Amino acid sequence: MLKGKYCNSLTEYSRYFTREVIIGNVPMGGSNPIRIQSMTTTDTMDTIATVEQSIRMINAGCEYVRITAPSLKEANNLAEIKKELSKRGYNVPLIADIHFTPNAAEAAARIVEKVRINPGNYADKKRFDQMEYTASEYQAELERIYKKFSPLVKICKEYGTAMRIGTNHGSLSDRIMGYYGDTPRGMVESAMEFMRICEDLNYYNLVISMKSSNPQVMVQAYRLLVETMNAEGMNYPLHLGVTEAGDGEDGRIKSAIGIGTLLEDGLGDTVRVSLTEDPEFESPVAEALAKRYEKRKSSVSSPPSSVSGLPSSFSPYEYQKRQTAEANVFIGGHQVPRVVADLSDKELKDPKILSDTGYDYSVLLDKFNMGEQSVDFVYLGDKLPSFAMPGNLKQLYNYETWKKLTDKANCHPLFSLKEYVKADLKDSALNLVKVQNADLEGEDFNQLEPDKTLVFVLETGKEHGMADQRQFFFKMLEMGIDIPVIIKRSYPDKEFSGQIGNLMDPEEPVSKLQLYAATDIGGLLVDGFGDGMWIDASALPTKVIVTASFGILQATRSRISKTEYISCPSCGRTLFDLQETTQMIRSRTDHLKGLKIGIMGCIVNGPGEMADADYGYVGTGPGKITLYRGKEVVQKNVSSENALNELIEIIRQDGNWIEPQ
Ligand code: SF4
Repeated sequence: MLKGKYCNSLTEYSRYFTREVIIGNVPMGGSNPIRIQSMTTTDTMDTIATVEQSIRMINAGCEYVRITAPSLKEANNLAEIKKELSKRGYNVPLIADIHFTPNAAEAAARIVEKVRINPGNYADKKRFDQMEYTASEYQAELERIYKKFSPLVKICKEYGTAMRIGTNHGSLSDRIMGYYGDTPRGMVESAMEFMRICEDLNYYNLVISMKSSNPQVMVQAYRLLVETMNAEGMNYPLHLGVTEAGDGEDGRIKSAIGIGTLLEDGLGDTVRVSLTEDPEFESPVAEALAKRYEKRKSSVSSPPSSVSGLPSSFSPYEYQKRQTAEANVFIGGHQVPRVVADLSDKELKDPKILSDTGYDYSVLLDKFNMGEQSVDFVYLGDKLPSFAMPGNLKQLYNYETWKKLTDKANCHPLFSLKEYVKADLKDSALNLVKVQNADLEGEDFNQLEPDKTLVFVLETGKEHGMADQRQFFFKMLEMGIDIPVIIKRSYPDKEFSGQIGNLMDPEEPVSKLQLYAATDIGGLLVDGFGDGMWIDASALPTKVIVTASFGILQATRSRISKTEYISCPSCGRTLFDLQETTQMIRSRTDHLKGLKIGIMGCIVNGPGEMADADYGYVGTGPGKITLYRGKEVVQKNVSSENALNELIEIIRQDGNWIEPQ
């Protein structure tokens, strides 16, 4: 197993040092700041609309503007767009987004500062024609690609144009799929084939990306890319992004898990957040993610030679859930990660307070109704509720308060480590103990007796907290300790208080919490760590915290509580209003827990990019939609008025439809 050279440090924040790449007047990589970029959604042939949208994006913080160039005519029109932008005083580097067509790429490379190609479909139109390759057939394919690709490389060299080799998990070539499968290794090899050709032609102005709509796959692929580049003496800058992340809170959380996890490890030279929203909303989110690291001290700036501290049973390139013992058949083992809501500063006089935690109280029936997003624990600290709690909601009390409870049914103690080792009374079912990474070196930890009722609540006071908590998990793996762990992160009132404002603004406290918690806790969940999560942000409403918690679990696919939408950000190829259509589909299907529905703007890239969606709604022409079951076309060119009803009918025929309540 390849291991351990994907970042500078697993404990300290340290940015991975990459080669500086020249992209017009905004260089990337090396010691340059993490650059922010985004992509237009207008028709590239509409020069004025594209220019005006680009200006809105630039004013929102975008440092490179990417524009789709599906064919030669759009590629040529980039010259008009560039001219008009310059006339209006904007000289931001432009990037041409190319799929399939070498002649568009070759024209664009003479006009703009950077071209992006997808190695899965550059010069490759066929799909699934041949899935098995002998070594000589594979070699012949590489030679064919060399011939098709080298003219573009030569033009880029001549014109000083940069290039992004952007692998997409959903659109790997037949050659790669046949040889490596739909895996992070396949994604990496897909880019490496093209990178080796570039180096063979002495062209080094490259940026690389490994995108997927699944943050876990994306994180593994980038890590493996760095490991592989490192082994071949390459250190090209990394463009980070999660594709088809969707919109609103889900889109932000999914993006933060993928992008934030890598930024934590010092990887990433430019960030693009893909949201199914107007593109000017993307850059502020990307900026909020990147800005967090400006403050962190970065000591190491040389290429990584080795990374120590990875346990032998852990691979950063494959998902494996940490095996834990099941404490009281409720947490750990095969159970889904549990969610804790903190009500310790709330008045507990009215049962309706629990509606924010997913328990709706009916006065008429004197009953609580649970939903898919009902929390598993409430932490009450030293507060005693003056109403009967729902039978399936576990209550956590500070140890001293718990000790005094006369009725302890469903009530469990939360200890400090010291309290626990000295405690004369413990719960027969569940004992939660607060620990930090540094405690593993202490005397109190050594005195812990293995116990099936024990669950750790892992806290951190470190700024580089994700790595600190990850160290705890690594050490637990090495020590062979299988006690379940709830990951707790605290977000201070001074940074996360204030009125709830515009949720599109990532500096708004709720949005900021979503991004930070998704990075901090999601980054551990994608590596298989954590049997539960607890976001402590007392300045924010409980409902917001609970929704974010379930959103993070959903995006890491560790606990599914709702429908997942994989919707593309739209671009000049989009054949319908993506935002409106996504909302329309969501309004009829958001009760279908666990289903993944792809909503894609065009048939050229949509089917590939919706990756592992269960159903797909893909634009095929003006007013025409093609419906998919997985990768299979079920209905072609349905009119857009009927398409949603038809999609629901397909879901119904498959036995996956339930009536909304
Ligand atoms: S799938 Fe969406 S973003 Fe991708 S090329 Fe098609 S319309 Fe553009």
